[in-house]
Amino acid sequence: MRLVLLGPPGSGKGTQATRLAQRLAIPQLSTGDMLRAAVAAGTSTGRKAKAAMERGELVPDELVVAIVADRIMQPDARNGFILDGFPRTVAQAQALNDILLTRGLNLDGVIELKVDEKVLLDRILNRAREAKSSGQSVRADDTEGALKVRLEEYRRLTEPLTGYYRASGILKSIDGLQPMNKVEISIFEALNASTRPVTAATAREVRQQPA
Ligand code: AMP
Repeated sequence: MRLVLLGPPGSGKGTQATRLAQRLAIPQLSTGDMLRAAVAAGTSTGRKAKAAMERGELVPDELVVAIVADRIMQPDARNGFILDGFPRTVAQAQALNDILLTRGLNLDGVIELKVDEKVLLDRILNRAREAKSSGQSVRADDTEGALKVRLEEYRRLTEPLTGYYRASGILKSIDGLQPMNKVEISIFEALNASTRPVTAATAREVRQQPA
């Protein structure tokens, strides 16, 4: 199964992508993680991406598209993947479409986590405070200034993707403000309504877990 997870920063997108990937036994492909690894390793991609990431801006489409084109061809992604944080612009979505089409593949679904923007700032700043107080590293872009830019970038460049995918009939919008387990159940129910039986068994499994 090939899925895209869309959602603003703080919407729980990464958490749900991890859960889905585990349940469906396919890799979670997070472009944010890949770019942070490139920055940490000081690669040429990392050097090109670093400043924009720290400001909370998107990095250029061609940089991310190249990373994803390469990553989805790795053997572990042969049976599917969850794209977490990609595409983030209509141009990226079109590039993904082309990459998949040339290989005779397609997307099975796009899941949008809808979250009231007012709660996002608090959620992320709390996450940063908690990480700091427990001695974990805090993301360079989990500051109030960068977060505002990330939300603006989402609204301006990524939100239009919902129209793009709605037009192709594969968009599922989920209330991301529900408790995490409920969000997971809603995702499986939405997928189950439209995709293959593989999600039916998994949807039952998710519903049976303790709340
Ligand atoms: P994330 O971990 O998904 O919040 O991504 C962290 C940062 O990485 C973003 O704020 C962007 O600077 C960059 N980034 C991640 N994915 C993309 C993408 N698909 N397009 C452009 N920039 C991205």
